[in-house]
Amino acid sequence: MSGNQDGQKEAEPGEPGYGGDMQGRGKYQGGSKPRPYISGNSSNVGAGFTPARLAPALQPPQLAPALTGSSLRTSRLSPFELGLYELGLELTGHQSKQFLHYQQELIDWNTRMNLTAITDPEEVLLKHFLDSLSLLTVYDPPIARLLDIGAGAGFPGLPLKIVRPQWHVVLLEATGKKVSFLQHVIETLQLEDVMAVHGRAEELAHKAEYRDSFDIVTARAVASLSTLLEYAAPFCCVGGQIIFPKKGDLTTELAQGKRAALQVGARFKADVPVTLPGLEDGRRLLVWEQIRECASEFPRSGGVMSKKPLGKTM
Ligand code: SAM
Repeated sequence: MSGNQDGQKEAEPGEPGYGGDMQGRGKYQGGSKPRPYISGNSSNVGAGFTPARLAPALQPPQLAPALTGSSLRTSRLSPFELGLYELGLELTGHQSKQFLHYQQELIDWNTRMNLTAITDPEEVLLKHFLDSLSLLTVYDPPIARLLDIGAGAGFPGLPLKIVRPQWHVVLLEATGKKVSFLQHVIETLQLEDVMAVHGRAEELAHKAEYRDSFDIVTARAVASLSTLLEYAAPFCCVGGQIIFPKKGDLTTELAQGKRAALQVGARFKADVPVTLPGLEDGRRLLVWEQIRECASEFPRSGGVMSKKPLGKTM
């Protein structure tokens, strides 16, 4: 079992629940400089989510001191708001409402089905929304085709779709009930050009319409790196990026993942720490580049992947 993300159990081949994370850009490179994140009115205020009061104070020269040292403690900005600011994101009123509705639907549906262990509204903002958006620190082109494998309740794919509505996003999920939730959120938020697909990565990757078709493939809290690479590489076009959010000690897993990558036509590119507010607990983004087409034998069936994981040394 590999490290997980926020208490999400990562399923491995053979375990119950097993259904089976382009150009890299540094922090702040999505715009000329960090920007205040919100404009608009106060009707969309939710738990831990207070856009309206920010607007007058959010001039960069005034905000900058709030981002450092002791003044952080006295800042009027929540960690989520600071995180958006650090990402250079300025949400529209519509996007703020979309996040609020998503937060509410997640917490509501979670009372009836197991979507997330995180139920505190403020924690949802940080550990689901902001954590998902952290991918923008390494990848943020104007247009992209993104695949999120094992999206669960939509992370990281849906928050990215909200802030990058021009991206084409496919959320792949093996559990039917979670797909129903995703479809409900997509409709409620009136998102376009995003699909929730019910299926398993190791099966869909062999279909022509999905193979070599995505500029970015991601998966959070789904499996170990070598398994994830075998899932992701067949979907990724040559030159595309594969990004896995992870945390914890990855020494062994990463070494195995680097060897596995070469077998599926990918190459390890970067290990980028996540330093956003509230997420300073060893999170990182592991970035890979697809350097040649993945051989048609991959991904193998779940059983074979389980018995003979890629990149393992004897
Ligand atoms: N990515 C989400 C997150 O970070 O909150 C969900 C993580 S959850 C622990 C893992 C999800 O991956 C489950 O919903 C499971 O059904 C899905 N999953 C596992 N293996 C899969 C596969 N091979 N293909 C598609 N979905 C898979």
